[in-house]
Amino acid sequence: MIIVPEKEMAGLLNRADAFTAVENVFASMSKGDAYNFPVIREAIGHEDALYGFKGGFDKAGMALGLKAGGYWPNNLEKNGHINHQSTVFLFDPDTGMVKAMVGGNLLTALRTAAASSVSIKHLARKDARVMGMVGAGHQATFQLRAALEQRDFEKVIGWNYHPEMLPNIEKVANEAGVPFEAVELEGMVEADVVISITSTFAPTIMAGHVAPGTHIACMGTDTKGKQEIEAALLAQTTVFTDEVAQSISIGEAQHAIAEGLIKESDVNELGAVINGTHPGRTSDDEITLFDGTGVGLQDLAVASAIVDLAVEKGIATIVDF
Ligand code: NAD
Repeated sequence: MIIVPEKEMAGLLNRADAFTAVENVFASMSKGDAYNFPVIREAIGHEDALYGFKGGFDKAGMALGLKAGGYWPNNLEKNGHINHQSTVFLFDPDTGMVKAMVGGNLLTALRTAAASSVSIKHLARKDARVMGMVGAGHQATFQLRAALEQRDFEKVIGWNYHPEMLPNIEKVANEAGVPFEAVELEGMVEADVVISITSTFAPTIMAGHVAPGTHIACMGTDTKGKQEIEAALLAQTTVFTDEVAQSISIGEAQHAIAEGLIKESDVNELGAVINGTHPGRTSDDEITLFDGTGVGLQDLAVASAIVDLAVEKGIATIVDF
């Protein structure tokens, strides 16, 4: 078995490789060459943690396996570890034998940031100039860094439930040479692209906070009950997702579906836009929304690329298992 520990990931993984792996796997999913297994995600009744498994099989990339992990909201305060903790396991599709164990924390952040970036590439207006951030936690910094590479953004505006965290994203904007301004939620109407990446269970982004023509990447809702966007807003947008089954059960669309505001058939695959079988955005006034629920295949695609790189660079530990 090949082991690639978390501490080696920063030297192996880059935004461009994560973007390519995620864009390719979304395309494969839409073609039916790769599929995700049903997600297991449980509140374990300890440390307020959500824990679960996301897995799948990508026939095109020959990646089989799962990511085990979840969200421990008290970690940072209590023990200094980040709140999101995960590990990826890869198996040999020909034999079922375990192939690799790969640190999943940085990988999760980069593959999640890659997902919203892929959505911005394919769905945001070409002339998008103002980037809006709702959320300023661990993932938000990765989200913003990757998003800024997709358009010629001239300004970042940000809102966070905990305003004292806003310097996290201000720093990222400044490092990328883009000015940052803290705004009230109402100020989000100025944004051409909005990324929301929070752990809230009550919607913060309301229909009145979003201007026509905006692209929203809703990345925080990955569990039953979570909600970042007012359900009524989904009915006013063209909804895209990584995977329809997840979007309507654990993603942002779960609420609009439950309230009868949209139907399952209103939720489109981003992969279809990548493959050219869905037109994507069709006008400058259209609001597009990407419901990024996070699929196991994203993790497997990026982990597979990492394993190859780690072996090539002699960084991987190989154990007889
Ligand atoms: P974090 O703990 O570092 O940050 C949490 C963020 O949520 C902060 O901005 C915080 O201010 C905000 N927040 C907390 N309570 C809130 C409330 N009541 N109302 C509004 N905002 C609130 O967490 P993180 O690692 O940045 O993860 C953020 C979210 O993204 C989590 O829900 C996580 O499960 C989710 N996530 C999704 C994917 C995916 O693929 N879609 C991947 C990783 C993480």
